[in-house]
Amino acid sequence: MNLVFLGPPGAGKGTIAARAKEFYGIPHISTGDLFRYNIKNDTELGKEVKAILASGDLVPDSVTIKMVEDRFTNDDAQKGFILDGFPRTIFQADALKDMKELDAVVNFVLDREEIIKRLSGRRMCKSTGKIYHIIYNPPKVEGIDDETGEALIQRDDDKEEAILNRLDVYKAQTEPLIAYYREKGLIVDIDASASPEEVFEQVKKALAK
Ligand code: AMP
Repeated sequence: MNLVFLGPPGAGKGTIAARAKEFYGIPHISTGDLFRYNIKNDTELGKEVKAILASGDLVPDSVTIKMVEDRFTNDDAQKGFILDGFPRTIFQADALKDMKELDAVVNFVLDREEIIKRLSGRRMCKSTGKIYHIIYNPPKVEGIDDETGEALIQRDDDKEEAILNRLDVYKAQTEPLIAYYREKGLIVDIDASASPEEVFEQVKKALAK
């Protein structure tokens, strides 16, 4: 199954993709995670995109598309995939059309106020990437990762100024993709305000059709 998870930052695409990956046995390809991996390992690509990610702006289409093309050459992506955070522009969507045929685009719907609440409380373990929320999904000990015991961090782009920028960028560049894919009959709307369990149930039901 070839899937795209579309929706504003903080809508839970990554959380649900992690579950869907296990359930459907297909890889979760998150362009945000791929960029963060490169930044952490200080690669050429990482150096190029570090400041862009911190600000919440988009990495240039050419760089992002090349990275996804490379990722698609891996064996695991031949039987299907969940794209999370890609495409984010019409240009990227047109490029994707030439690479792969899609089965569905899952549109995570969440209002602005809830997005800000979710993003500003989000914390992460830097070494494993595990995500927490200070209210909705706190670690056992405040500020500490349950598994590694490391101090949790707040992503630079989860700080207030970057959150507001990411929402503007989403509205201007990514939201038009909803109409783009709706016209192609690919959109499945999901109410992303529910718990991860409920949201995942909705996704499974919708994709079974
Ligand atoms: P995410 O983890 O999906 O919120 O992505 C984090 C950041 O990575 C974004 O704010 C962008 O700076 C960059 N990024 C991720 N995916 C893309 C994409 N498809 N196009 C451009 N930039 C991206």
